[in-house]
Amino acid sequence: MKRNLLNLLALLLLINTMNAQTSKKCATMKAYERAIAKDPSIIEKEKALELATKNRLNNKTRATVYTIPVVIHIIHNGEAIGSGTNISDAQALSQLDILNEDFRLMNADSLLPSHPFWGVTADCEIEFCLAQQDEFGNATTGITRNDGMQTSWEMQDIDDIIKPATIWDRHKYLNIWSINMGGSDSSTLGYATFPSSTTDTTDGVVIRPQAFGDIGTAGTGGFTINDLGRTATHEVGHWLNLNHIWGDSTCGDDFVTDTEIAEDNNFGCPSFPHNANSACGSGSNGEMYMNYMDYVDDACMNMFTEGQRDRMQSALTIDRASLLVSNGCDAPTAVSSIKIINDLKLFPNPSNSLVHISSNSNDITSIEIYTITGVRVFDNFTINKSNKRNIVIDVNNLPSGNYVLKIKSNQKVSTQKISILK
Ligand SMILES: [Zn+2]
Repeated sequence: MKRNLLNLLALLLLINTMNAQTSKKCATMKAYERAIAKDPSIIEKEKALELATKNRLNNKTRATVYTIPVVIHIIHNGEAIGSGTNISDAQALSQLDILNEDFRLMNADSLLPSHPFWGVTADCEIEFCLAQQDEFGNATTGITRNDGMQTSWEMQDIDDIIKPATIWDRHKYLNIWSINMGGSDSSTLGYATFPSSTTDTTDGVVIRPQAFGDIGTAGTGGFTINDLGRTATHEVGHWLNLNHIWGDSTCGDDFVTDTEIAEDNNFGCPSFPHNANSACGSGSNGEMYMNYMDYVDDACMNMFTEGQRDRMQSALTIDRASLLVSNGCDAPTAVSSIKIINDLKLFPNPSNSLVHISSNSNDITSIEIYTITGVRVFDNFTINKSNKRNIVIDVNNLPSGNYVLKIKSNQKVSTQKISILK
């Protein structure tokens, strides 16, 4: 009896350890569960996308390379550029390079042609370009920096505060955030939104700076096995509708036929063949642990399959098709293409606490405040009030001085100078 009890305790401990290991990787399913709880209609949207994906696969034509415009948002804690969470441009760019290598099968560590899984290994024919113009047509490096004034963030606050305040039009850009995660998400590497369970203020991919790219802070802070930028490869896979290779349950289904059935997630760096002839029916070659959608170390994952490519391309050409006609990576044309909100009223100015902003003809969607040297003073001024034409903001937390307010409306923008006097 005692022995049985001990065995049970040991088993419970093992299960707990496994859960802890699971939480160390990707929190996309956690984000998904939260999205479903907020909006149950997602399930219907998912079904529609599954059906459309299936229909596309039956009639698919290929050999098109798709390009996705990307903006990288670096959320830091006031450090100098290139230090701590304020990762360098070079580190941000290293991540883009890795995505392009992995999605074009240009990665140096791909399987050899003699490997039994080489036959289904795919060039996904998807590329990523860094934005050259922002959503209002202004020139951009494709990298934004914002001081979050906090050392680390939990997912909920990232989704509720950081993303709405910084996101660029999700229909034109893949938004990727580098942000340090802490609290209950202190071991999370990253997470993504699926095409069906997303919103205009949360869509995109989040990666911690310790797993971002392959230089600088990549691999630091206890994340040595996540030093090659494969967290982003995995998360962008989710963002393009890929599931975990084990289908998030024992012998689960990932809705891809050529990925080999897997009993569970795999960690570390297994050797081939791994878990051959499993109870799930993995066959003599075992599980495809080296797939980007498993949980092995960065250095041990190296492939997507043709089935995964087809599923991602379906998501891209169905739910995310607007990205394929985005001008985000085109050089900006004339600045005059920006429409100005020209009926704005702002008072009092100077102000010491509350500022009233009103427009007769436009819903105001966000207000940003910059110092006169162009440093964005971070605060969540994204507007979620019902009356979007009369906004009141509190500037009491800002020191006295001159500032620039950037006020956004639908495809329109206005900048206004304001003085704060205390
Ligand atoms: Zn994942």
